[in-house]
Amino acid sequence: MSSYCVIGSGISGATIANLLNKKNTVNIYDKARGPGGRCSFKRLHNSKGFDHGAQYVSPKSTQFKKFIKKLIKKKILKIWQGKHINQNKIKKKNKKHTKIIGTSGNNDISKYLIKNIQCYFLSELDKIKFINNKWKLDFKNNQTKYYDNLILTCPFPQLKKLTKKYIKDPFIKKKIKMDANITVMIKIKKTNKNVSSYLFNDEILGWAAKENSKKRFKSNYDLWTLQSTHGWANKRINKNRKNKEINSKILIDKFFKLSGVQKTKILTLLNHGWKYSSNSRPFKLKSYWNSKLNLGICADWFVGPRVEAGWISANDLFKKIDK
Ligand SMILES: Cc1cc2nc3c(=O)[nH]c(=O)nc-3n(C[C@H](O)[C@H](O)[C@H](O)COP(=O)(O)OP(=O)(O)OC[C@H]3O[C@@H](n4cnc5c(N)ncnc54)[C@H](O)[C@@H]3O)c2cc1C
Repeated sequence: MSSYCVIGSGISGATIANLLNKKNTVNIYDKARGPGGRCSFKRLHNSKGFDHGAQYVSPKSTQFKKFIKKLIKKKILKIWQGKHINQNKIKKKNKKHTKIIGTSGNNDISKYLIKNIQCYFLSELDKIKFINNKWKLDFKNNQTKYYDNLILTCPFPQLKKLTKKYIKDPFIKKKIKMDANITVMIKIKKTNKNVSSYLFNDEILGWAAKENSKKRFKSNYDLWTLQSTHGWANKRINKNRKNKEINSKILIDKFFKLSGVQKTKILTLLNHGWKYSSNSRPFKLKSYWNSKLNLGICADWFVGPRVEAGWISANDLFKKIDK
């Protein structure tokens, strides 16, 4: 049995690990505290929390539709019902999409896919070296591990840094701009607005989702996730840690103004800056596999800035490995 190390437990890492695990020994390492990557769920307490990364999936390809349908049947995923308001005139013309979410959080797909796989969290891969046909992997927590095969699923800028010595293909030389996103999570007094989400037509605030409307928990308060536009976040992301308060205030003021939700005291406030939220231009190839080095890469950015793209990339990589 060949050993595989998969870096990342987002949709790409979880999907490829699940496929490989049928015939091989697979371990997952992730620098985060838990699974999901950019589909992570920020827990407040019990089942209450925020989907502070990906908001929902709306499958487009036949294969991904089939996969999602299977997970809905298993009650891992469900349809997000309710009133979804679209104030964005350009996007209004597009067909309405069904919004599918995790039953308990949007990292439910990853959790389901990796349930039988050994995962190591808080483990950030720092350096890689291919010696005697094995990958020597140094982690920032001072651990060193050896595997026959290495699969990476990091955002493009991080991947480039790790692999520049080993990958000579032209795609690695590309200059890819990844957009940022600043996400603010708030708990406020219950209001009588019966809305599940807003898509705004604004230069600062892009989107707001009412977590209560996902019917995962009951609460005497309203929990809202507010996400900025990329353009606004790109200019502020590098100093978001320092300017958390002011950035959060700008997004919250915008939210009350644009949604019409009655302005009220903020009881809990969290701010998360996504430096590498998404890339707008996909690559020509869907994944990368080097059979001489036993090195594979799959990630959303090969295909597009969505959860489905990560799943497609991972399935493409599996076909290349399993030839
Ligand atoms: C704010 C926001 C909103 C979004 N909204 C939507 C949406 O509504 N619908 C949609 O379809 N998509 C949405 N997306 C995009 C979607 O989240 C991504 O396309 C998808 O989750 C990417 O999955 P991935 O597995 O390729 O990458 P990631 O989810 O980024 O997974 C990579 C993993 O690798 C880990 N990692 C990275 N480097 C290392 C290292 N050196 N060592 C160890 N671990 C490492 C990371 O911690 C992470 O868990 C959104 C993204 C953001 C940020």
